[in-house]
Amino acid sequence: MKIFNTLTRRKEELETIEPMKLRMYVCGPTVYDFIHIGNARPMIVFDSFRRYLTFLGYQVNYVSNFTDIDDKIINRANELGISSEELANRFIDECKKDMQGMNIMPASTHPLATKEIDGMIKLIEGLIEKGYAYVGKDGTVYYDTTKFKDYGKLSHKNIDELQSGFRDLKVTGEEDKRTSTDFVLWKPKKEGEPFWKSPWCDGRPGWHTECCVMAPKYCKGALDIHAGGEDLIFPHHENEIAQYEPLYGSPYARYWMHNAFLNINNQKMSKSLGNFYTVRDVLTKFDGKVLRLFMLSTQYRAMLNFSFELMESSKASLERIENCVNNIKFTLKNKNVNVAENSKLDNIDDFNDLVVDLKTNSEFSKNELEAFDKICEFIKIYFDKLDDDFNTADAETQIYEIVRVVNQNVNENSSIAFLNAALLIIDTLLDILGIDLNSKTVQIADIDEKMIEELIEKRSEAKKAKDFAKADEIRKQLLDMGIELEDTRQGVKWKKI
Ligand code: AMP
Ligand code: ZN
Repeated sequence: MKIFNTLTRRKEELETIEPMKLRMYVCGPTVYDFIHIGNARPMIVFDSFRRYLTFLGYQVNYVSNFTDIDDKIINRANELGISSEELANRFIDECKKDMQGMNIMPASTHPLATKEIDGMIKLIEGLIEKGYAYVGKDGTVYYDTTKFKDYGKLSHKNIDELQSGFRDLKVTGEEDKRTSTDFVLWKPKKEGEPFWKSPWCDGRPGWHTECCVMAPKYCKGALDIHAGGEDLIFPHHENEIAQYEPLYGSPYARYWMHNAFLNINNQKMSKSLGNFYTVRDVLTKFDGKVLRLFMLSTQYRAMLNFSFELMESSKASLERIENCVNNIKFTLKNKNVNVAENSKLDNIDDFNDLVVDLKTNSEFSKNELEAFDKICEFIKIYFDKLDDDFNTADAETQIYEIVRVVNQNVNENSSIAFLNAALLIIDTLLDILGIDLNSKTVQIADIDEKMIEELIEKRSEAKKAKDFAKADEIRKQLLDMGIELEDTRQGVKWKKI
């Protein structure tokens, strides 16, 4: 199969370091709040990609982290008067529930940044030793981007262009930084922040160092594929390469895959712009299968605009498929055939063998043989499209085409062989995209009520202490979760909106 490699800006044949084994790392979310459906785009796209490669016979080691220490986590935890660890753990749990609701397989490993600090310190020590990093007066460690000659190779910019992108050479707390593109590997703690001991100062690692340590550790060496949203190309992924390659003297990742943004009104959906819907919110209105069909209805490198109209249209598409499958099952039951819940095959060789056998199936009527020929053409296109830089949009279309042909041929005269074949093909092609028609909609216990009560309590305390900014912040956080507060004489009432 071919994938577009951001590093070379070409579609390239996938060739793994070890035959039929794939080491893949996907940057995961920063866990300070519920994830939004923009964050869900890489999750769904790369989960489907992983499923497809597994179907092709690859043994996929799929690693995806949670960033559980970061300024946003620390600030939010301080506002709420809880520890960063408690906040991060809470939202890791919530994120996992959302993933389950979207039928995203758990990663082979989900490393946590805070559990890998020793490895990060070792990496930074190595960079200092080799002259790629320097220590400021306050113990901040910086990476020296002028030392790495390939700096900019992923974002395809030279260092002068990259430097001009930074308006200010220094930001507060980075007094000893030499060049604007230099970045922080280790930063000193501030009052009230969690910290770890290091040779330079009590503090914590920079974000770019986290992934660069966890990825090779859990993928067991250099990566075949490193993936994430396109906003991570620069500086995050560029900076990961800059740390790994001089230290190990070998390429970090063979292929870099980046999904385009999920937009809303042609603007990137993001927490900071406030134009987001949480996965939790969307999953209370739509089945996770609908969200997947929607996310995969555009090739991953193309911008995808979110709207509830488009979600409705994906819902209608899912219903068309479900009606077709239910009709097949109903017809089979009428013929006294026991229908398996799910008849999918999970391996391309078995699938191809079966399809070849079926082409000459003597139980098929003449019409069914003709219909099956058409179905085989759509199957071929389905796989060709997935092999061409994972074009799930066109692959989905082939499923709809197959459903159309099947619908024309399902009636009381259908042969059992044709009905079974149609069922197996539809189930298998959907399963590759992570859509299991038999899965019950996972009803995520909407919102954790204990958490709401705690937040309301914290807000009341803040108000008593006349800290109205904090009280407002908590009210806004609850609103983001879809909870509206009403101050009454009896106390604070809340309701879902
Ligand atoms: P963050 O928690 O911001 O680090 O994001 C986690 C992942 O979600 C990264 O791979 C981001 O690139 C991706 N991401 C964030 N917002 C969007 C968006 N609107 N569309 C697509 N991907 C996004
Ligand atoms: Zn990362």
